[in-house]
Amino acid sequence: MSDAPTGPGEIDVLIVGGGPAGAAAGYWLATAGHRVAIVERKHYPREKTCGDGLTPRAVHQLEEMGLGDPLAKFHRFDGLRATAGGRELELKWPSHPVYPSYGYVVRRSDLDEMVARNAVAAGATLLEGHEALAPVVERGFVHGASVSRDGGEPIEIRAKYTLVADGANSRFGRALGTSRTREWPYGTAIRTYFETPRHDDPWIESALDLKDRNGTTAPGYGWIFPVGDGTVNIGVGLLSTFRDFTSVNTTHLLDGYCHQIADRWQIDPEAPTQRATSGRIPMGGSVGPKQGPTYLVIGDAAGAVNPFNGEGIDYAYETARMAADVLHEALTDGNA
Ligand SMILES: Cc1cc2nc3c(=O)[nH]c(=O)nc-3n(C[C@H](O)[C@H](O)[C@H](O)COP(=O)(O)OP(=O)(O)OC[C@H]3O[C@@H](n4cnc5c(N)ncnc54)[C@H](O)[C@@H]3O)c2cc1C
Repeated sequence: MSDAPTGPGEIDVLIVGGGPAGAAAGYWLATAGHRVAIVERKHYPREKTCGDGLTPRAVHQLEEMGLGDPLAKFHRFDGLRATAGGRELELKWPSHPVYPSYGYVVRRSDLDEMVARNAVAAGATLLEGHEALAPVVERGFVHGASVSRDGGEPIEIRAKYTLVADGANSRFGRALGTSRTREWPYGTAIRTYFETPRHDDPWIESALDLKDRNGTTAPGYGWIFPVGDGTVNIGVGLLSTFRDFTSVNTTHLLDGYCHQIADRWQIDPEAPTQRATSGRIPMGGSVGPKQGPTYLVIGDAAGAVNPFNGEGIDYAYETARMAADVLHEALTDGNA
């Protein structure tokens, strides 16, 4: 961890949040030669509730950040096995001129630290255990944030531009006036891990016909993502557009799904390796505004998640890269 850059106007960009969005933005801005600091309230390696699945599109972004080699030691998969109504379809990733024909499953504790350290190697300052408490706003312009290190006295980190990458809850973004468009759908999902000899299956699996423990069809879909480390990540997700969405107990839904697939996946559904945790997923760009005077909002904080499957890691990387490009232009055209 580096020291906090203090003093007026000392850095070009302050990034709030060191998840996929913040770390990728830090990498691209530092690579372009800008003075950038990422504040992350937790210490790496830190957990993030996730399915841990990386599509070829996300892998492409990681490879573009020079992470192809370290990524290769994790579990690589060939495509998606979709199951429904007693049928299975194994759908290989297509060959594509830009994206690879494989994905990876990487625990977020490993993935996010790898991307954050890569930003540091590119020249970014990473401040772990630093929470951005509130934006510094002067005459309507955001000039950084007041930041507390491990709960201590706040200091001001001043920057020409601020990137909001603080995830789905986005307290910092909301302090700047962002909100979710209520009429648009959002998702909720829950996951845990189980040991299984099938931990390195070459397919990720998605069940399109979830059932509860009574065999009644339930809303949502289930996933089994082999992590390759002796475990699989198993979860269920559903959309707010489902009837009776608010009355669905996702813990029970996950439990039912785990029992449904237990024999086939050789898991003990009563013995997860860790407690199931859940999270909300804003999607379809439903959170805004995504920009204001001297700030931009990226990743989950901007609702940048695919509403089809709940994939957000790639969109965090991509919105980060777009934001870095825009800020690079602003910082180099003399108007910064
Ligand atoms: C159950 C579940 C399963 C999912 N499965 C997948 C999947 O398999 N594949 C996929 O692509 N996507 C998946 N997603 C979505 C994915 O997890 C998110 O889209 C992705 O993490 C977004 O990255 P982010 O950087 O925007 O936010 P985050 O990953 O949430 O990172 C935000 C970071 O900001 C930090 N932070 C927050 N507030 C502050 C503050 N004030 N000061 C400093 N730091 C702060 C947090 O500690 C965190 O590290 C899933 C989501 C859920 C809930």
